[in-house]
This record gives sequence, structure tokens and C-alpha cells, in this order.
Amino acid sequence: ASSLDIQAIREQFPILGQSVHGKKLVYLDNAATSQKPLSVINALREYYTSYNANIHRGAHYLAAKATEMYEQVREKVAKFLNARSSEEIIFTRGTTEGINLVASTFGRKFIGEGDEIIISTMEHHSNIVPWQMLCEEKKAVLKVIPITENGEILLNEYEKLLSPRTKLVSVVHISNAMGTINPIREMIRKARSVGAKFLVDGAQGAVHLPIDVQDLDCDFYAFSGHKVYAPTGIGALYGKKEILEQMPPYHGGGEMIKEVTFEKTTYNELPFKFEAGTPNIADVIALGKALDFVDELGKENIATHEQELLSYATEKIQKIEGVKIIGTALHKASVLSFVVEGIHHSDVGTLLDTQGVAVRTGHHCTQPLMKYLGLEGTTRASFAVYNTFDEVDVFISALERALKMLK
Ligand code: PMP
Repeated sequence: ASSLDIQAIREQFPILGQSVHGKKLVYLDNAATSQKPLSVINALREYYTSYNANIHRGAHYLAAKATEMYEQVREKVAKFLNARSSEEIIFTRGTTEGINLVASTFGRKFIGEGDEIIISTMEHHSNIVPWQMLCEEKKAVLKVIPITENGEILLNEYEKLLSPRTKLVSVVHISNAMGTINPIREMIRKARSVGAKFLVDGAQGAVHLPIDVQDLDCDFYAFSGHKVYAPTGIGALYGKKEILEQMPPYHGGGEMIKEVTFEKTTYNELPFKFEAGTPNIADVIALGKALDFVDELGKENIATHEQELLSYATEKIQKIEGVKIIGTALHKASVLSFVVEGIHHSDVGTLLDTQGVAVRTGHHCTQPLMKYLGLEGTTRASFAVYNTFDEVDVFISALERALKMLK
């Protein structure tokens, strides 16, 4: 068992103590967004009650304090991902914006007619649509790595897709729909052999795995704060310095410039070149508290606890007649997606909700994956550090009751 005191952790999440529909809340929709500890909520309050100010060029005390607090978090994110330097960390609204930033800046400069971009069958829409938009604009070609029915990438097929025309490979670290942990380190090595850059969609990876961008040797790593116990509306993009330096800016405006004249503008240095306008100061500061929370518990400990919950839930759900787990990869994290023969996923979700159990149903923003699997959608339970074995029991009994009613 993990060494964490889960009850003590739960006390830091006031939202978990409530009842819904007269039943104790069991929150198992963590892959969509995690709940926030008090330290994160209090950081927002503290910022707005005691040092709210615009940052970077203020001439006064509050501005200096806000700037320092904001920039400290950049250091924290750099440490969280083991980046070489905080210049390589760009604050974004989340994973979606991180990927769009790369598509519109790296893409604008380095992708041309006939060039190829590779993604996989299990990508989230946010790692499909920006590349489709770019390919359409540039007459580039989008290629898709096939997967097995278990939800694992076919590495030999991936190798076949790589060519001297491959400019970028963009693959999800952990699938939000199936929980598959992809062998991205190996995939990055293969991309290198044809000189392609590699972006990792870390929306799920950043919370469930220790991340070391230097060891991975990825060129970009994008994640969202709100899945790592931080507020919505904030995330970060890691990019290798030498590549970020070559990329044109994303948005134009204040903060991202060195000097502006009507004839010509020169751009600010990294990372400010990519952060036009007043940033999301409060949520950056709160993100820092969320990373402290994760750090104090230890990512390995969090992962151990989540793996135990996943194994326990998997074992129990397999005993229920008619249930089929979607995503049975060897390496899996924290996501239990399933379908039930003859029963619609949204009916399952609704009946779980009436019993206080919060899950997600539907295509999970992975419609092409669902199409490949021949499914309209699944029911998905996903675990975070504050979930308990008792909650898994409640979920399983609630599911049994729901299925009895629906059959
Ligand atoms: N990729 C994956 C794998 C995700 O799970 C998500 C969020 N569901 C995203 C990308 C997009 O993240 P966001 O909506 O926070 O930008």
C-alpha cells in the first residue's frame, strides 16, 4: 500500500465532503478535471485580497510582489518537468492552447507543402484539429499511427510512417479515454532518426507520472493546470530553447515586444515573446501551490496509490456480467473506461449520478478513437490521489444496481 494518509489529504479538499442527490459524493471524473486543495483556493483569495497588481513593469510594492510570485512559479514548473531553464516554460491557458501555439508558430515557420505530421489514433481532439487546420493551410499531410484493440500504439507501423518528410510527431503521453501510457521515450528516439520534432500531449501525463523532459528529449510538452489540482484557465508549454528561439511569436501585443515603432517591432526574449498581454497572474500563483501539493505528497506515492485503486477497481468490475473494459494496455494509468452490452453509456452515467457517483460518459473528445473501436462512447471512471478503496466499492455497487435496473 502507498504511504499516503488519504483521509488527511481529503480534508484539504472541502468539495469532497458534500452530498449530491442525497448521497455522499464519490468524485471519479478526475481525468476531466481534478478538485482543488485549500492551499490552491486560498492562494487565489490571498492574491486578490493582498497583492493584486499587474506584473513586470510596475513601479510599486504590490507589482513587485506579484511579479516575484508569478515568476517563482515559472521556476517551479521548470523543476516539475525538469526543464533546463525557466526560459523554456511558457504559460498558456492549458494543453489546448499549448498545442495550438506550436501549430501556429512552429507550424507557420517549419511546415510546408508536402511535409508530414504524425499523430496517433488515440489522440484527443485538441491534438488532432490544430494539425488538420495547419495541414489544410500548408498543404501538408497528416498521418495517423494505428493502434491495437487493447489500445496500444503499433510501434512497427509508427516506424513505417516516419520519413524524411516527417517534420513533427505529436502523441499523447497517457490516453484520457483508455488510460494507455504510451512509450513516448522510445517514440521520440525514433522521430530523431529522421530529424522530426516531437510534441507530447501531457494533459494526463503530467499528473500521473514523474516528467523529465531532458530524459525524454521531447521538443515540446504541453499540460493543463486544472488536471493537476490547479485552477482552470492556466497551463504550461515546455519547449526546447533553441527551437523556441527560432519560432515566430504567437499573439502580438504588450509584454511580448522589445521595441515597437510603426515601421517595425522587435520581440522580447524567451519566454516573454510568447506571452502577449496581461497574463493569468492569480491562477499562475495558484498553480504554484498545486505543484507544491503534488511535490509534498511525491509523484511516485501518488502514482502508487492510483495504481492500487485502478487494479482494485479493474478486478471488481471484471466480475460484473456484460461489462467490457475499453483500454487494456499493459501500461495503464488511473482511467477505467468500459461499456456494458446492450446498455447505453449515458443511462449508466445518469444512474450512477443519482447514487452520488460522478463519472464521465461519451466520446471523451476522441471521436476518431471511438470510431476505430466501433463505439459511440464509454463510461469512464478516473482516479486521483484523494480517492479511496471505499469509494471504489460504492462505485461498483452503484454500477451493479444501475445495471440491474437497466437490464
Ligand atoms: N489532451 C488530453 C489527453 C486531455 O485529456 C485533455 C483534456 N481532457 C486535453 C488534451 C485538453 O486539455 P484542456 O482542455 O485542458 O486544454
